[in-house]
Amino acid sequence: MSESRRILIVEDSLLMRNLLVGLLDGAGYGDIRAVGTLEQGLRMLGLRGEPGEHFSLILMDKLLPDGDGIDGIRQIREVPHLTEKPIIMVTGFDDRETLREAFDAGATDFINKSFDETELLARVRSALRLDSAIEAAKEREADLRRLTRELEKLSYTDGLTKVTNRRGFDAALERAWSESFEQRKPLSVVMLDVDHFKKYNDSLGHQQGDECLKAVAHALEQQVNASGEAHMLARYGGEEFAAILRSNASTAQYTAEKLRSRIQELQLAHPNSTVGNFVSISVGLTTIIPDERSSATDLVAAADAALYQAKNTGRNRVVVK
Ligand code: GH3
Ligand code: MG
Ligand code: MG
Ligand code: MG
Repeated sequence: MSESRRILIVEDSLLMRNLLVGLLDGAGYGDIRAVGTLEQGLRMLGLRGEPGEHFSLILMDKLLPDGDGIDGIRQIREVPHLTEKPIIMVTGFDDRETLREAFDAGATDFINKSFDETELLARVRSALRLDSAIEAAKEREADLRRLTRELEKLSYTDGLTKVTNRRGFDAALERAWSESFEQRKPLSVVMLDVDHFKKYNDSLGHQQGDECLKAVAHALEQQVNASGEAHMLARYGGEEFAAILRSNASTAQYTAEKLRSRIQELQLAHPNSTVGNFVSISVGLTTIIPDERSSATDLVAAADAALYQAKNTGRNRVVVK
């Protein structure tokens, strides 16, 4: 939050301007900008293209040489970060009509030019207090929004591997499904499962198993991300991963094969696998163009069945269904 409590005075009468500056300065509000036209005031606030300054309070005259201060207030209120900025209208008019017009335009307070010092300072003080409260609330809101975003991200992230978790996968698949449905475009789901991972844990220990999963997840995610902008990899559960590819069958098959070979190339020693000396994965792939008769659940089930077949026909392979 800005610690400065800068005050803007828009007042064309030099006498009045000096009086206000003197009073405020005397009361300890030394950071003051005082201008004599509406244009200068609006420019100071950043309403004329160039960046403006931060103010905590605006004192606005009504009759100005180049316009009506009430109209100025209306313009200020249209700027998103100034909608709640305290504005005190300082004018010689105090008829009901002017009063109503000023408050309708968005004035926070209204004070007659024949004010006494105590009254003016009391109103300035309370307007500044209001500004502090508003700024603090805005800051809390921003903090909260940040926190919510972080939490949301966290709730979609797998703790061990840091890739998207099952929850994130389900949400992404739903999105991808409806988009592909609307555009009548092919959608592919790849299910991937580490081969003989139980044996890996049994021979190297669970901690080493965790490290292995991290390395596999990282490599798979890199490969999936490289295959397309909207593509994503998730940890589906345990030592199973799932990818969503918005590609046609042949491109998806190419990517699936790449994923399989990428894990082989990591050359993570597996002391007890029937497949070979290194950690490998089995891969199931299904591509469809979503329609009224199909569902995302069917798509995952089909890819899962393909994976099952990859397991049963020797592992370390891609099966397309
Ligand atoms: P298959 O080739 O048929 O897939 O055999 P597999 O041993 O990989 O499959 P199985 O489903 O029998 O075993 C999966 C193993 O994965 C068992 C489980 O302890 C291990 N696992 C699941 N999640 C984790 C994890 O977060 N960390 C570690 N270290 N192991 C895990
Ligand atoms: Mg005037
Ligand atoms: Mg497995
Ligand atoms: Mg498994």
